[in-house]
Amino acid sequence: MAMNRIQFQPGLSMPEFFQQYGAEAQCEAALEEARWPDGFRCPRCDGSAHCVLRGGGRKLFQCNACRHQSSLIAGTVFQGTKLRLTVWFLALYLISQAKTGLSALALKRHLGVSYPTAWLIQHKLMQAMAEREQRYVLEGPVQVDDAYLGGERSGGKVGRGSENKIPFVAAVSLSDDGHPLRTKLTPVPGFSLKAIEQWAKTSLAPGSIVFSDGLACFAAVTQAGCTHQPTVVAGRKPRDLPQFQWINTVLGNLKTSLNGSYHAFNFRKYAARYLAAFTYRFNRRFDLSTLHERLLVAAVRCAPHPQRSIRIAEVHC
Ligand SMILES: [Zn+2]
Repeated sequence: MAMNRIQFQPGLSMPEFFQQYGAEAQCEAALEEARWPDGFRCPRCDGSAHCVLRGGGRKLFQCNACRHQSSLIAGTVFQGTKLRLTVWFLALYLISQAKTGLSALALKRHLGVSYPTAWLIQHKLMQAMAEREQRYVLEGPVQVDDAYLGGERSGGKVGRGSENKIPFVAAVSLSDDGHPLRTKLTPVPGFSLKAIEQWAKTSLAPGSIVFSDGLACFAAVTQAGCTHQPTVVAGRKPRDLPQFQWINTVLGNLKTSLNGSYHAFNFRKYAARYLAAFTYRFNRRFDLSTLHERLLVAAVRCAPHPQRSIRIAEVHC
């Protein structure tokens, strides 16, 4: 990983952000552009001819063909919000620029909203990131490892499989010259052959070459059309071998991120969302200056999630 290239790239400065998104009308325009880059399309009949009305201070688009009225936020993750768009945009900006993530408490202070509101904003945007990440599978050479949330990182012998820990598969795909491309961190019910087969079928492209340690369950990746190359050494964790350099780096970064910004969260309920928020940012690490724009696109393409569904525990793959 070219760390300097990542750390020293220009982001979007706060004055630049407020210049571009400080007013409600600017946010409306950006939202419209993200939602309909080729111009308005009626969500009901797909027609493009329309007129613009103002309803309750918000822009309403009325389709000339079927008369359906839609707002900018209807059908997106922002649906139903009473907050100004400037607040949401500031949240998008802060979350996308925070190197190791941002706690709901920090978000509450920055946005000047209540803690429950900040929590909901954070989780809705993390859900948008998670849904975006689900679209990608890893391919080519892929390093994998078994890891746990809520305890010592993988390799700790004590408490392996303990009920308080959430098992997840950590995977990172590599370029031909051995540099990390994308990562995926996926909660699994456990490290069984069946769970890994299921994981591989949804997370890996057939033909991928999977490098793991000797943990038996990883052999199941062959059921998904992948090649398995286990490295068995004395002692179970070949952490110092170059084959596992990048997966260890990713897990180290994850630990820093979780310790530094989230403190405590309900691992069992929200593991997939927190892990996806980490991978979302990691997988776009070379392009921080446009991350807020990409997150906006992810948010408008993410279906509405009422508070009730956001608070429901996720289903593991
Ligand atoms: Zn229509």
